[in-house]
Amino acid sequence: MLAAANKDAAALRDCLRGGVAGLSGVPILSGAAFAEAVEAQPPFGRFALAAEDLIRAGLATAAVPRPTPIAWSRADLDREAALGARLLARAGLRARSRTSDTLDGGLVAPGTLAVSDALEALDALALPVGPITGDAALKRATEVWEIVHPEAILCDPASLRFLRDASGYPRPRAYVVLLTPDDAAGLAAPPADDVFRILSLPQVNTWIAGECAAHDGLHLSDDAVLAEVVDGRLVLSPRQRTIAPLRYDSGLTATIDTATCACGEKSPRLRFGN
Ligand SMILES: [Zn+2]
Repeated sequence: MLAAANKDAAALRDCLRGGVAGLSGVPILSGAAFAEAVEAQPPFGRFALAAEDLIRAGLATAAVPRPTPIAWSRADLDREAALGARLLARAGLRARSRTSDTLDGGLVAPGTLAVSDALEALDALALPVGPITGDAALKRATEVWEIVHPEAILCDPASLRFLRDASGYPRPRAYVVLLTPDDAAGLAAPPADDVFRILSLPQVNTWIAGECAAHDGLHLSDDAVLAEVVDGRLVLSPRQRTIAPLRYDSGLTATIDTATCACGEKSPRLRFGN
C-alpha cells in the first residue's frame, strides 16, 4: 500500500473549499506539465491532497502527451462508483438493467473496471466483452448478447462507430459512450436519441459529465468536479480526490449552461465546440 501526502496539500485543499473563485491563484495545468510532474516525482507526481492508501492504478492516455500513471484510493473508487451509477441512471439504466461493455480490460482508463464498479453500485448486470471493431469480435459478442439481450451497450468511441454501422446483432435501446478530451469531435457532434455521451478524464474523474434524455448538453457532476472555462477552454478540478491535479486543462472548447434542463435537472450542462 502506498500512502501519499504533500506539504502544500493543506493549502490546496483550502483553495478547493473556495470553489472556482478559490482556485483562481492555482496555475492551470497542461497535460504535458502533468506528465512531466509525474515523471519527475514517481509514481504519481506531487498531486496528493490526502494521505490515503492507493489501491488501484491505471494509465491516463487522454489529454496527456504519453501514457501517465494515475491511482485511486478506496474512497476515490467508492465516490466514482456512486457518480457512475448516477450518470448511467441518467442514460436510463436502472437496478436489474442488463448491460454489456466494450471497454478496455487492462490498465488504460477509463476501462471496464470503472464501468463494472458503477454498474455494481446501480445493481445492474455487467457483461464485459472487450472492444469490438471487427467482425470476429462482433460474432463472439453476439453469441452471448443473444442469450443476455443487453438493453444498453457501454462502449469506447471506436466500438460505437463500428457497432452503429454493423448489423446482425441484437440492437440495444441505448449506447452509452465514454469520450475523453481526445474525442473532441465526438463531444461536439450533434446528439443522437440512442447515444448517451459521457465525458471522462480519469486523472480528474472518470465520470465528469453525462447526457440525459433531453440530449441538450452534458450534465456536469458538479458535486465532484469544478469546471471553469478559461480562454474558451474547459479547465477541470476534482473536488475530492487523493491524487488531485487541480485546474487541469482539458484542451476542449466548451461553454457552461447553468439554466435548468428540459429534463428538470439543475446541474450545469457542458456544450462542446470544435
Ligand atoms: Zn437534462
